[in-house]
Amino acid sequence: MPISFDSIRSISQEQALERAHAAKAKLGDKLTILGHHYQADEIVKMADITGDSLELSRKAAKVTSEYIVFCGVHFMAESADMLTADWQKVILPDLAAGCSMADMATHEELEAAIEYLEQDVGLSILPVTYVNSSAAVKKVVGAHGGVVCTSSNAAKIVTWALGQEDKTILFVPDQHLGRNTSFKLGVPLDKMPVWDPQTHDGGAGESAYKAARVILWKGHCSVHTRMNKADIDHWRATDPDRRILVHPECTFEVTQNADMAGSTSYILDVLANAPAGSKWAVGTEVNLVKRVAAMHKDKDIQPLSRVQCLCSTMFRIDPWHLCWVLENLAEGTVVNQIEVDDQTRRLATEALDRMLELSK
Ligand code: SF4
Repeated sequence: MPISFDSIRSISQEQALERAHAAKAKLGDKLTILGHHYQADEIVKMADITGDSLELSRKAAKVTSEYIVFCGVHFMAESADMLTADWQKVILPDLAAGCSMADMATHEELEAAIEYLEQDVGLSILPVTYVNSSAAVKKVVGAHGGVVCTSSNAAKIVTWALGQEDKTILFVPDQHLGRNTSFKLGVPLDKMPVWDPQTHDGGAGESAYKAARVILWKGHCSVHTRMNKADIDHWRATDPDRRILVHPECTFEVTQNADMAGSTSYILDVLANAPAGSKWAVGTEVNLVKRVAAMHKDKDIQPLSRVQCLCSTMFRIDPWHLCWVLENLAEGTVVNQIEVDDQTRRLATEALDRMLELSK
């Protein structure tokens, strides 16, 4: 009989953490806990491996334990399942930990978009999907010879895709990462129309798609798009020495007005190597900003936005859910396993492997 979540829900956070630690110790080397940088501190402290999406994909592929508890969101656990062996089990402590951006592209919508752009507009489409997408979307991308990217390797992957001059790139699902990356690589804004999946023809007009180099899916991150130019203007006016560092899921306007933009790993590197006494306003998920500020007390690191930009779905992985899955595993019961079916796994893994190969 599995231990019910209801029996754990009412204990204190300290008790949940204590019991989670005890179950972890009992599982020993049968267990690896992976934790994304946006997780809350108490979860990150329990993780054996931390990282952003790319680091966690790479590291998941090398994990040798039977159980992999993924403290992140659903699409990341799917990627981990695809990159690990059949006998390994990937567990997501709360199945409701999704990603609103990933939900903005379904595999049916992507199939329909590719079909329209190829058959009605006459393009040859090369799909590139941000890792923040479902396994089913990655499967469609793999089936069309496309590739996955993360915010760390997006420039490398898009450079490779732009090298295929007979192809038009369809960048899914984050229009901002697609636009910011492609613009940096020299693609003008007027060669990057948006595809709106809520319409049958994308909404930008056939001539815009014919002239496009990159077509941007109309999706976004609800956390990073909360940061705006007014936040930057505020810091520029009140503290002109403070440097603005943002994530490329922020809008074009924000990244263009920032001093620097890059992936989570890039942000961590810049802040680690910044001189003591330097001042920063950082435009990314607030748990990460607070943690990095606490790690570098010799620098003044503040969130860019005055509103709390928190990834609420990441936050669903809490000590109670972690305790619940670990205690069940310690009793030999697997709950909340994430399993990708064989056909999806085969095609999606082609797109993921292509990414890992290109980003070596
Ligand atoms: S921060 Fe944005 S992209 Fe990342 S998991 Fe949360 S909603 Fe998705």
